[in-house]
Amino acid sequence: MTRLIFLGPPGAGKGTQAKVLADWLSVPHISTGDILRAAVANQTPLGVQAKAYMDGGDLVPDALILAMIQERLSQADTQKGWILDGFPRTVAQAEQLDVLLTEMGQRCDRIMSLSVPDPVLVARLLNRGKEEGRSDDTEAVVQRRLAVFHEQTKPVLAFYGDRRELVTINGDASLETVTQHLKQAVAAAV
Ligand code: ADP
Repeated sequence: MTRLIFLGPPGAGKGTQAKVLADWLSVPHISTGDILRAAVANQTPLGVQAKAYMDGGDLVPDALILAMIQERLSQADTQKGWILDGFPRTVAQAEQLDVLLTEMGQRCDRIMSLSVPDPVLVARLLNRGKEEGRSDDTEAVVQRRLAVFHEQTKPVLAFYGDRRELVTINGDASLETVTQHLKQAVAAAV
């Protein structure tokens, strides 16, 4: 049973690494970005509300995200553990996650913070925009997402700052190296 939170700026490699670790640990990979993109594609009520925020590089309101996460964490497959990718992204989300986990009698084992310098992130995101055609990977939206990270998500790192579960990993390395460091951090005792 392993429960991990992945934190980091857009383009840090959270999604890629979270998938690898989820396979390794046989736990579900829960990406709020993936759930939102599926909702947008299916034009669900959530997707219709979320789309404009996402296209502008802004965060989707906390209330929508919290309802979504609560629903996802109530599904049976999460009994095995989970990896949260892209959540929490605001201090309010982090506070509410604490409340939710306490209610469920759960604790997270590690909070993995992937750290990558801004210029590397911009280059990666613009390249992904070209390769995958993601509509929020254009230059103006990438700059906005980075600004939103610094304003709203960096404080989440401070919120968790004194917890022993928090581990910072250098994300400016090869995929394999980052995976290896993440696995070591999961295996090490806190
Ligand atoms: P990235 O980390 O590269 O920005 P994500 O797939 O995690 O990509 O997120 C894409 C977009 O989805 C964000 O820019 C934001 O609009 C929305 N989103 C994802 N997770 C959250 C969240 N926890 N809170 C608010 N908005 C979110």
